[in-house]
Amino acid sequence: MLHLTILQALNQARQDIEDTDARMLLQSVLNVSHAYLIAHSEHQLTPEQAQSFRLLTIRRVRGEPIAYLIGHREFYGLDFKITPAVLIPRPETELLVDLALEQIPPGHPCRILDLGTGSGAIALTLARHRPLADIVAVDCSADAAAVARINAGRLNVNNVHIIEADWFEGLLGERFDIIVSNPPYVARGDPHLAQGDLRFEPRMALTEGAGSDGLDCIRLIIAAAPCYLIAGGTLLFEHGYDQVEACRDLLGKAGFRKVISRCDLAGIPRVSGGRFGSFPRETARM
Ligand code: GLN
Repeated sequence: MLHLTILQALNQARQDIEDTDARMLLQSVLNVSHAYLIAHSEHQLTPEQAQSFRLLTIRRVRGEPIAYLIGHREFYGLDFKITPAVLIPRPETELLVDLALEQIPPGHPCRILDLGTGSGAIALTLARHRPLADIVAVDCSADAAAVARINAGRLNVNNVHIIEADWFEGLLGERFDIIVSNPPYVARGDPHLAQGDLRFEPRMALTEGAGSDGLDCIRLIIAAAPCYLIAGGTLLFEHGYDQVEACRDLLGKAGFRKVISRCDLAGIPRVSGGRFGSFPRETARM
C-alpha cells in the first residue's frame, strides 16, 4: 500500500476541506504541532494514520465542527477539552470574561457564580486569572459538568466548584459579587440552528428554555439574580446579536443600574449587564 507523506495527505484533504481544517485534523491524528507538519512534510503516515485522517476529513465535509473532531478548543489562551455535550467556546464570549475581570481587582477575594458553565470556559478562565476568587459553576447537564471537571483538572484549577443544577437550584441563601452567564438565547425555530456548527451543538445550550424570542433564560436569570447578589453586585451575560435593547430594558425594569453593553469584534453588542442594589464605595467600579 502506498504510504502518503504529510504533504500529500494535506494536499489530498485540501481538495475537500479548508486548508486550516486539514492541518488541524492532521495535527490531531499525528499529535504534533503545526511547525512539525511544515518541518516534516516528507514524513510518511502509517496506513492507520492515513485512514484516521481520511475519516475525519469525511466527517468535516459533512459539517461536523472541528472542535468536536479534534476534541479541544482554545479560549482566552487556554486549551479546553470539548465534546458534543458542550457548546464550543466562541471568541465573543471572551468579551464576557474581559468585562468580569474588570470588575475583580487582582488580589481581592470574591465570589463568582457562572450559570450554564458548559465546558467551564468562563468560570475556569476567571479562576486562572483571579486565583483568590471562589467560583461556583453550574450546569443542568451531567455530561457538561463532567467536561467542566475534566477541564478544571487539565488547567490545574481548584477554586471552582462545579455543580450539576438547574440555574440557581440549591443556591438559596448564597450571595455572589458577580454572576456571569452565557445562557441559551437562540429562539426556537431560528434558521441559524440549521446552519454550520450549530447543527451539531447541544440544543440544550443554544435554545432549550430560551422560548420563542430566545430571551426566556435571560429573563429568568435577571429576575432571580438580585436574590443571589451582594448589595452592589454585578450581573453580566451574553446575548444574541439582536437582543441588546430587550436585555437592557429587562435589566432596567428589574432594578439593575449602571447598565452597560459591550460590542464584539464585529461591532455587535453581545454582552450586557448591570449592578443591583446599593453601591458600597469599595466595589463601585462599573
Ligand atoms: N453564540 C451562539 C451562537 O449564536 C449561541 C450561544 C448561546 O445560545 N449561548 O452561535
